Amino acid sequence: MQKKNIDIFFTTLQKLYPENRTDLIWKTPWQLLVAVVMSAQTTDKQVNNVTKHFFDNIQTPYDTLQLSLEQRSQLIKGVNYAPTKARNLYTTAQMLTEGRTHPNYHIPDTLSDLIKLSGVGEKTAKVILHVLYNTNDIAVDTHVHRVMNRIGLVNTASPIQTSKIIDNAIPKRYAYIAHHTLIFFGRYHCLARKPKCESCPFTSFCRYYKNNINS
Ligand code: SF4
Repeated sequence: MQKKNIDIFFTTLQKLYPENRTDLIWKTPWQLLVAVVMSAQTTDKQVNNVTKHFFDNIQTPYDTLQLSLEQRSQLIKGVNYAPTKARNLYTTAQMLTEGRTHPNYHIPDTLSDLIKLSGVGEKTAKVILHVLYNTNDIAVDTHVHRVMNRIGLVNTASPIQTSKIIDNAIPKRYAYIAHHTLIFFGRYHCLARKPKCESCPFTSFCRYYKNNINS
C-alpha cells in the first residue's frame, strides 16, 4: 500500500471515529477488566446487556470475591463460556487483592504482568493497556484482521498472524488511533458479509474492492 494512501486511510478513519473509546460500558478499572474478559467470543452489546444488571454492585475485585461461583455464573450467564469466565474472574480478583487491603487494587500496566492473570490472553491484555493506560497497543480481533487484509496493509491468514506483524504494518504515528478506528470501521462499515463499499471513502485503493467488486 502506498504511503500516501496509508495517510489517507488513517487520517480519514480518525475523522470518522474521533473518540478513542470502546463500546464496552465501564466506570472502574476492575469493571473494564471484567467486561473485556467477558467479551471473548461474545459481542460488546451482549456484554453491556449483562453487566448493566450488576456493575452497580461490582465495582472492585473485592465485590467479586464476596460472590459464590454459582452467583458469579448466574450474573454473567448471558455471555458465552460463563462458568469458565466466572472462575477466571474470581481467581484474578484474588490475585489483584493479595497482600492489599480494601479498597486497594492495581490492574497491571504491562503486557507480561497482565497475561499472568487468569483468563487474560494477549488480545485482552492489549485492550486493557490501550483503553486504561492509553498505550499504542493494538488488539487484533476479527474486525482489525479483516480490514487490514481487505485494504491491503497485510496479507495474512489469521488474526494471530496479523497480530505478529501489525506493529510493522502501521506507521508509528497512527498506532494510537489504529486500535479503535479499525475496530469501529470493521464493525460498522467494512462488515464481514456485506461491506458497505458503495459508501466507502477508500475504494480508489482498497485491494478487496479492486479484486472483488470492481474487477
Ligand atoms: S471498499 Fe469495501 S472492502 Fe474496501 S475498505 Fe471499503 S468497505 Fe471495506
